[in-house]
Amino acid sequence: MNFQWYPGHMTKAKRMMKEDIKLIDLVIELVDARIPLSSRNPDIDELGKNKARLILLNKADLASDKYNDMWAEYFQKKGFFVVKVNSKTGNGLKSINGVIQEACKEKIARDKRKGILNRPVRAMVVGIPNVGKSTFINSYAGRACAKTGNKPGVTKGKQWIKLNKNLELLDTPGILWPKFEDQLVGLRLAFIGSIKDDIINLEELAFELVKFLLASYKGTLEKRYGIDEETEPLEILNGIAESRHCRLKGNLLDTSKAAGILIDDFRSGNLGKITLEFPPVEAAETENQ
Ligand code: GDP
Repeated sequence: MNFQWYPGHMTKAKRMMKEDIKLIDLVIELVDARIPLSSRNPDIDELGKNKARLILLNKADLASDKYNDMWAEYFQKKGFFVVKVNSKTGNGLKSINGVIQEACKEKIARDKRKGILNRPVRAMVVGIPNVGKSTFINSYAGRACAKTGNKPGVTKGKQWIKLNKNLELLDTPGILWPKFEDQLVGLRLAFIGSIKDDIINLEELAFELVKFLLASYKGTLEKRYGIDEETEPLEILNGIAESRHCRLKGNLLDTSKAAGILIDDFRSGNLGKITLEFPPVEAAETENQ
């Protein structure tokens, strides 16, 4: 799915989320593990400020294990609960129930003091388009669960998915919009495929990816395409075109096709586990150094 920019939709989505958040105890916020900050909208911090928060580093299978751990620590330091997951295979989902009970332990204790026993935690999933919300809901909820609410003849209400006796999930996720005014954020969103490719110059995007890989993931291009990484970055797309036999009429190298191959290889994980955004060094830590 790609996004289209209709400010009206964004305003409506935000208004709806504001209403939905009133109904829940816990916000499950999905971010893309390859770009954990660029793939979130910090407005959620204000919208969900009185709610427990679980951050899922989704698509963790596509990001570097080392940085996944560093990002998990980064968000934990901010007071959020964090789980690394691959919603597509279900990897990491098992630990979520326990973490949710822990994240909502104050609410559960509050209920207990009021004499309310076993009221399930109510949660909703939020995140930017394409981050994996539907995939997550489907694999987490599976097929075994029953939907509650919306009985025939009753005014349309909220649909809740009953996951177990302790947890109910709002069946429609909240959509957040990325802050893509920042150029670097926009570039990262384009790398992961969250901005329509037809409004992007793919060769320029591929060139930016080449520069990033040469600087931060040495050996990747050589391993995949047999390219000498000492080559001028501008020449690297030519090298990929050669190694993948991308030719135009007259035997000219088809760098546009090569750009597409590189971008696809990155997005599908063929280049390896690559994190594009690194955790910022927090001010307090710098002061101590
Ligand atoms: P939504 O727009 O947030 O609901 O995103 P979708 O659930 O439609 O997922 C967008 C794309 O990401 C789909 O092609 C999914 O198969 C893929 N996807 C979702 N979660 C994961 C994951 O953890 N790992 C990988 N590799 N792909 C994922």
